[in-house]
Amino acid sequence: METFDFRTKSPAETMFFARSLAEKLQPGMVLTLNGDLGAGKTTFTKGLAEGLGIKRNVNSPTFTIIKEYQGRLPLYHMDVYRLEGSEEDLGYDEYFEGDGVTVIEWAERIADRLPPEHLDLTIRRTGENDRTITLKPVGDRYVSICKEMHHEGFGA
Ligand code: ADP
Ligand code: MG
Repeated sequence: METFDFRTKSPAETMFFARSLAEKLQPGMVLTLNGDLGAGKTTFTKGLAEGLGIKRNVNSPTFTIIKEYQGRLPLYHMDVYRLEGSEEDLGYDEYFEGDGVTVIEWAERIADRLPPEHLDLTIRRTGENDRTITLKPVGDRYVSICKEMHHEGFGA
């Protein structure tokens, strides 16, 4: 499966990347975010929220698991870190099939419950302020978005 690598050199660059990505998202799209603690998943999500026209500050929803924000499209921000091995059904499908964009931090922990088509994103720390963001699109709509990001010069 084709993957796309992008590099950023600061939190601001990661947010800029996320804002640009957000502008290409459509209702019902799902992004899965993976990466170690401190990789930049929440930083990325803050940029994504800005790009969706959300004015409220986005924080990691560790204790609530799901937080909703209103913007051009609603954002459903999930952090499923605490759900490892849990069978708990949070009604994910209603979010995945809703009008908003779902972003799931630590998505690998609910891998078997993800929708078949989604954009998988992994952030790796490659230096103090350097990050490599790898996008793995699953589904045609997501492949198009990755190609657009690439053509816009990100990751060059
Ligand atoms: P996570 O949600 O993956 O645990 P956070 O976004 O909360 O990660 O934290 C990432 C940390 O790394 C922040 O302190 C941020 O300022 C810092 N950082 C440094 N360089 C970058 C970069 N290029 N992209 C994103 N975050 C960066
Ligand atoms: Mg986080």
